[in-house]
Amino acid sequence: MNKDMSNKYIIKGATGDWEIVVGLEIHAQVTSNAKLFSGASTEFGSEPNSNVSLVDAAFPGMLPVINGECVRQAVRTGLALGAEINKFSRFDRKNYFYADLPQGYQISQFAHPIVGEGEVVVELEGGITKTIGIERLHLEQDAGKSIHDQHPSFTLVDLNRSGVALMEIVSKPDMRSPEEAGAYLRKIRTLLRYIGSCDGNMEQGSMRADVNVSVRRSGEPFGTRCEIKNVNSVRFVMQAIDYEARRQVDILEDGGTIDQETRLFDPGKGETRSMRSKEEAHDYRYFPDPDLLPLEFDDAFIDEARESLPELPDAKLARFVGEWGLPAYNAATLVGEKESALWFEDLMGHLVKQTGKPAEAIASRASNWMLSDLFGHLNKVGKSLTDSPVSAEQGAKLLALVLDDTISGSAAKDVLDDMIETGRDPAVIVEEKGLKQVSDTGALEAMVDKIMEANPAQVAQFREGKTKVLGFFVGQVMKESRGQANPAVVNKILAEKLKG
Ligand code: ADP
Ligand code: MG
Repeated sequence: MNKDMSNKYIIKGATGDWEIVVGLEIHAQVTSNAKLFSGASTEFGSEPNSNVSLVDAAFPGMLPVINGECVRQAVRTGLALGAEINKFSRFDRKNYFYADLPQGYQISQFAHPIVGEGEVVVELEGGITKTIGIERLHLEQDAGKSIHDQHPSFTLVDLNRSGVALMEIVSKPDMRSPEEAGAYLRKIRTLLRYIGSCDGNMEQGSMRADVNVSVRRSGEPFGTRCEIKNVNSVRFVMQAIDYEARRQVDILEDGGTIDQETRLFDPGKGETRSMRSKEEAHDYRYFPDPDLLPLEFDDAFIDEARESLPELPDAKLARFVGEWGLPAYNAATLVGEKESALWFEDLMGHLVKQTGKPAEAIASRASNWMLSDLFGHLNKVGKSLTDSPVSAEQGAKLLALVLDDTISGSAAKDVLDDMIETGRDPAVIVEEKGLKQVSDTGALEAMVDKIMEANPAQVAQFREGKTKVLGFFVGQVMKESRGQANPAVVNKILAEKLKG
């Protein structure tokens, strides 16, 4: 597999090139204390069957009552996806039998979803962007969980998840490589986390994806797809697509055909395997749920939801690049997680206040410091921004010392190490360790004179045109000053004096 000149991702088969087509159905658990149609708790990790109301257990005669917060979160999410909000939507029953579905049907939205078409822009390698279409977003309840490994002869059922509110976000078949699918999934997760409608925690199952994959020869109509169910990490989604596409190409190259089927990804083996063919599972006999009124709301409700949205990552990215002059890569990395974007803004706020310099003059350096120094040092001690021992305010104090030449960039790394270890103030550390940079021209000039006197041969070499010995002199001054000379000032003095 490789990329051709137009950055297209292709699979080379014996008889020619194949293109991958991918569409994702993402299930995202709505952040809410209560379930979609009952007041039972949604807390993760509770005792099995402890968060189950009579509605969730489908006792006879129980009636679902819609949780307004889940509706609001779905609308906010739709707005964040740049999607059309449907003022009229309706719940349908999706009928099927399974032990972990006591109602015998799932309440979902089929013909009239709450959110219609939208689109998201994803950032790919090399600064390329691509727009991926959203088909729809609808609300539905989760099912319970069958547990097969707790009893020698029985399957146990935990209904804690039964009735938990999910948003299903369906993409158009717009992705053409594992990378694009990974970038799309990450972008959706970032958006959900920014607006707080889902915690995006894939390990805990708050977000998972059904991955639809087909292959075709370039320019031909879409091929038959297979759907890989419930993949729960970005990496697994990418691996599953890669494996599945190769499997399909092998079949087609051998003259076979693809059966439309549901498959499972086995992360241990890195393979997909058949679960059931589509025909067996398809007749859900959808019909409007007679227990629930349609959802109807007005512009005021939508406007309120829109006003509750924070600045979204795309807008932040544009502002960081356009107004603050950040390199695109730095900006994209910082806005990728809400925490890092907010931390950076906090850092900039303090830095502008402390240095009196305009943001655009210092933002780029501040972003480099945060991404390489701060993240690097935190990484070393196994911490992240959320449990960083260094606050944005302390970070700004340290950076301010570098920006006004009080300490050198390399001294700042030592200070940061100390700050991470001890949580002390940078000024205190600089004082205690004597790290202040010597920028005093008089003192440095005297040092340079002394060194030139002691090394007449090198001075002569320089004057004969071997300007490389400049490095030797810089090294000597740094040694003499025990690393505290300001290198910019030293270079300037040396250039002057060595000319003769
Ligand atoms: P269903 O409801 O049967 O699952 P949909 O038409 O809603 O079918 O499609 C589900 C998902 O499959 C969507 O994300 C869509 O983009 C994707 N999809 C549809 N056709 C293809 C195809 N030929 N190859 C890959 N993905 C596809
Ligand atoms: Mg589907």
